[in-house]
Amino acid sequence: MIPYGRQCVDEDDIRAVVDVLRSDWLTTGPAVTTFEKNIASFVGANNAVAVCNGTAALHCAMYALDIGPGDEVIVPPITFAATANCVCYRVAIPVFADVDPNTLLIDPEQVEQKITANTKAIIGVDYAGQPCDWDRLREIATRHGVALVADGCHALGAEYKYRKVGTLADLTVFSFHPVKHITTGEGGMIVTNNDDYAARMRLFRSHGITSDARQREKAGSWFYEMVDLGYNYRISDIQCALGTSQLAKLAKWIERRREIAACYDRFFANNNIAQPLNVSEHVTHAYHLYVVRISNRDAIFSALRAKGIGVNVHYVPVHLHPFYRKKFGTREGMCPNAENAYTQIISLPMFPGLTKTLQNKVFETIETVTL
Ligand SMILES: *Cc1c(COP(=O)(O)O)cnc(C)c1O
Repeated sequence: MIPYGRQCVDEDDIRAVVDVLRSDWLTTGPAVTTFEKNIASFVGANNAVAVCNGTAALHCAMYALDIGPGDEVIVPPITFAATANCVCYRVAIPVFADVDPNTLLIDPEQVEQKITANTKAIIGVDYAGQPCDWDRLREIATRHGVALVADGCHALGAEYKYRKVGTLADLTVFSFHPVKHITTGEGGMIVTNNDDYAARMRLFRSHGITSDARQREKAGSWFYEMVDLGYNYRISDIQCALGTSQLAKLAKWIERRREIAACYDRFFANNNIAQPLNVSEHVTHAYHLYVVRISNRDAIFSALRAKGIGVNVHYVPVHLHPFYRKKFGTREGMCPNAENAYTQIISLPMFPGLTKTLQNKVFETIETVTL
């Protein structure tokens, strides 16, 4: 089976992990700080806070913004459930704003229509690796006095108007799950230029306690205080060593993803099999996913899977999940663009290790099953 996404792990990565295993610190040690510094400098942000996964990172972002009961946070429906779940963790209300039908990115006009006196934040998802229209989202957020969060889990290394994803919103969240651009096994990061948000998230990721073990050891002190209710959302040095080693290869991998996307684009431009999503002119797409719209999607999905092509569907619109229907009364008809796209979209194999030969096999199989 050719999967839709797959990690690349080489001998350098393995050596980096083994080195940490022989060192003094397996968690809250120097490899965590190094990974944070490397991600911060890669995206050009002042602060980076590493946590145990992307979902925890989203939860930290909601905590940093002091999102609480009754607050509303605007989210798109075409995303992984975690984007909206993090709002629910804070007992706040996710409000779904429909997507642009051509890009499946949150539509700024729909966002503006959903703003109320209770709106505290907007979460934009850089779906598939294409940045949202951050200038328009920023303008709306400023005019209404609400915060802007980027769920950049698909978009590490993507650019909007020559600026890397990471400083376009007030807080930007990344995931290092194996299908994402770089992996730590499980892992996440929040980047921000706001020092106060960063300090709040460092507390939140470690029980709401004011210092970590390494700080106490350095200070020769045992004293600590718990000042707010936090979680154990820490990530280990073992994972972060892998992350730093992977980050060194990110630029090369994105280049390869963009080449693969260009081959898909040419293939679909020469036939009428499917329509790739639109890519706007002022972005550098990072291609976490390569998504096309295709008619008769369900039959083609099954046929491709049966022939060893690991296609997927990203995503079931979040507002249609039973939890959201039950808890918030969301239903069909609320986000027609997302619901319509959902019946047609399919994600094709996209990862740096997809060779020309493998991609040709994908092309041939698509042609066979759509004849
Ligand atoms: C992967 C992903 C997440 C969650 O990340 P985990 O590390 O799996 O918790 C959140 N949002 C989006 C859009 C994602 O793709």
